[in-house]
Amino acid sequence: MKYLMLIITVFLFTNNTFSQNTIIADHVQNFKLDLKKSSQSSLFFSENIALTVDASASFSTIAVFVDAPFSGNLQYQLEGQDWQSLSRYHEANHPTRAIFELLFLPKKNTSIQFKSDQGLPADLSVRWLTLTTTDQIQHNTSSTREDCDCPQPDICGRDCWCPSGNCPTDPTPVATVPSHIIVHHSGSASVSDDFPAVVRSYWDFHVNINGWDDIGYNWLIDGNGIVYEGRGSGTQGAHFSCMNAETTGICMIGNFETATPAPTAISTLEQLIAWEACDKMIVPADSSNHITSGALLAHISGHRDGNDLPNSCSNTVCPGENLYPLLPTIRQNVRDKACLNELVSTTEINQIPFEIFPNPSDGHFQISGDLNQIADLQLFSQTGQKAHFIFNENGILNIKVSGLFILKIIRQNGTAATHKLLVY
Ligand SMILES: [Zn+2]
Repeated sequence: MKYLMLIITVFLFTNNTFSQNTIIADHVQNFKLDLKKSSQSSLFFSENIALTVDASASFSTIAVFVDAPFSGNLQYQLEGQDWQSLSRYHEANHPTRAIFELLFLPKKNTSIQFKSDQGLPADLSVRWLTLTTTDQIQHNTSSTREDCDCPQPDICGRDCWCPSGNCPTDPTPVATVPSHIIVHHSGSASVSDDFPAVVRSYWDFHVNINGWDDIGYNWLIDGNGIVYEGRGSGTQGAHFSCMNAETTGICMIGNFETATPAPTAISTLEQLIAWEACDKMIVPADSSNHITSGALLAHISGHRDGNDLPNSCSNTVCPGENLYPLLPTIRQNVRDKACLNELVSTTEINQIPFEIFPNPSDGHFQISGDLNQIADLQLFSQTGQKAHFIFNENGILNIKVSGLFILKIIRQNGTAATHKLLVY
């Protein structure tokens, strides 16, 4: 029986290989560099590493980190170029590792050297990833959502941006019901239009350098307006300064501190937000309490809106000074989409409050407020599954099993509020 299974496995693998034409995996080289003090200055220098690319390469990336707390300034020099500063990775929240922004290098043989104004507490770790040219892109344009008129944008799924199959999903994904949509930029200046390969480089950086379980974002959008599925819908990501529950993260690929986002990419962002907002009943132009950050937050926010919130673990300029000011217009444009007509309301969300007590409870909660304003109640478990409950005209909510739940109160005016309920 074992032999039979082995034969079947080999056959499936072979068949898969043929069906995807010639898939060549991306190539990784890791270096550990000891920065030595110069005899002529107070600076510390690494050796010069040769970087030789092969014909199948699209571009390459350099990820740099130190496996210890390090506050010094690092610079790098490519062959024939001036020294340039390496900035800290803007999404980093690693407890012990000092991580720098991902560098993108064009397809060209070169060499790289590093220098520091301080001695390093550990070797400098350098990961050189050569991305193989992506020659197969299959977008999925079919919509699968019920009760939602907002069309699905073109989506390049994981099979599309990682055709070799070497970019696995989080083995233990955490489900979440997003109440807020967080907009990011990728920060690094990409040198390539091979965006599936760019997404693979982020996956590698997030998983192998940051130590995350998967690419951090739920979705990414390239300069041509194509959407890439990262963690996808309803899965908790790693993108919002340690306050990821109840959010979905969309990354606009590019550095919008310096560049300006393409109109077609903004148009896709609005379409993707509408599609998600429709499915999750998120009112685009409103604000509500975001449970995990413990603060009132616009439903469509930028990453930097999380700065200084009570539970934030980092500070950032993301999504950049040329994208962040566009968010008010993006909220209005999404709000004005006809497919969201039923969801949209100009009523301020806090004008119709509901209180729920006691919380925690043994399963019997009292909802107080104008009960006539409740259009629907939805209850979700921590894993995002719909949960059973009983609700009567006196506002008594009964949950018969213990656990942590998210209650969504949908008002007659189309707005919604979420509450975390604990049943012991
Ligand atoms: Zn961000």
